[in-house]
Amino acid sequence: MGLKHEYKTISRCLHCLKPVNAKYVEKNNKLFLKKLCDKCGTTSILIENNASFLEKSYLLPLKKTGLKVGKHVNYVVLLYLTDKCNNNCKICLSHGLPKGDMTLKRIEELCEKHDQKFFLLLGGEPTLREDLFNIIKFLKKEGKEPLLFTNGLKLSNLDYVKKLKAAGLKIVYFSLDCLSERINQKITGRKNVLEKKLRALKNLEDENLSIIISSRLIGGFNEDEVKKLIDLAVNSVAVKELWFYPVVDIGRVEMDKTLLFASDAVKLIEKHSNFRVKLDDFIEFKRFLINAYGAIRKTFLKRLNTDSILSHSYTLPVRKKNFSPIITAEEVKSINGKLEGLLSQKKHWTALLILTRFLINKKLFFLSISSFLNRYFNVIKRCEDLLLLNIYVVTSPKTFDFNNQLKEIEYAGKDAKLIKFY
Ligand code: SF4
Ligand SMILES: [Zn+2]
Repeated sequence: MGLKHEYKTISRCLHCLKPVNAKYVEKNNKLFLKKLCDKCGTTSILIENNASFLEKSYLLPLKKTGLKVGKHVNYVVLLYLTDKCNNNCKICLSHGLPKGDMTLKRIEELCEKHDQKFFLLLGGEPTLREDLFNIIKFLKKEGKEPLLFTNGLKLSNLDYVKKLKAAGLKIVYFSLDCLSERINQKITGRKNVLEKKLRALKNLEDENLSIIISSRLIGGFNEDEVKKLIDLAVNSVAVKELWFYPVVDIGRVEMDKTLLFASDAVKLIEKHSNFRVKLDDFIEFKRFLINAYGAIRKTFLKRLNTDSILSHSYTLPVRKKNFSPIITAEEVKSINGKLEGLLSQKKHWTALLILTRFLINKKLFFLSISSFLNRYFNVIKRCEDLLLLNIYVVTSPKTFDFNNQLKEIEYAGKDAKLIKFY
């Protein structure tokens, strides 16, 4: 099999964590990042269970379009407001963060420092902050869009949701790993959590807030819950996005589990959707977003310094009513070939023209713009039949690829220390 190209980059040594030369290596169609450290020698880490999936969807399009992802920072600033939580999950990606609550003064300073529009409030559990409403109000006053990442327990109280809305909150990332009480107990170690979460979802829907469901995929635990999570997302007007996070070995992991990667998540979606959504759909749409971004960015949006399109995540817009992609993989594949050809010859204006014609012909202009710039204008809120299906691969300092991944801006703890991946 092998890789079509050689992909060299910089990553961190697995032992001393210093930035070192690295390259992608394929073995039995698994993809590894192999690093060479002067001090510690050669180390390598598994990056994907399906090497051709990552190459076709990400590494190769980036190479062809010539986009230098590593120069950009993420478009969202992540604020870990507190390390406290009212849950005690056996898998907690936030575990091990610096201790303490971030002060309001620090938040003000970070607001001043970063011109990003979106500030994601996480923890621990951010709703344990008594002053959360004030933080939201402050961010709104500064022209920022606060996004709340919560386990939803406190949102089971309708008055609490009303107060969040009154403070200016519009979008909630809601963690929900399953819809089975038994599995939920296994993951969180607590009883009756699910019931509260479902009440919270209803409250958010009643208050007309947009919901982004965030589900950790834990090998050997909740793979069979994917169908139920998809059903919940397509049947709720308020749910605009469904994110799957294959769980990796960072944070606290106190369960024996199989490591899952993006391609494994796609395979589960394939299976549980009776192949209405397929691996190729994800590959071609990711390629398309990179190509389209390459065409647009090199012309109009030179100053748009960052976007989720370039992060290590996969997006696929699907219609809720029949759970199928808004466009077939075959159609996207043909435009991808043309765009990559033009962009590799540096013909950006022609690429832009062809892209615009394609979008208008396919009546996809509105939908594509919505998936490109969804959170900028909250376009998707007005599009009830559309669901953005996403897969996000959580990066750790050990898997970080300096050239091909966005530099996420993450702050945690009392002193608002920057969490350094790069
Ligand atoms: S995963 Fe989230 S809800 Fe669970 S313990 Fe960690 S911060 Fe709390
Ligand atoms: Zn080393």
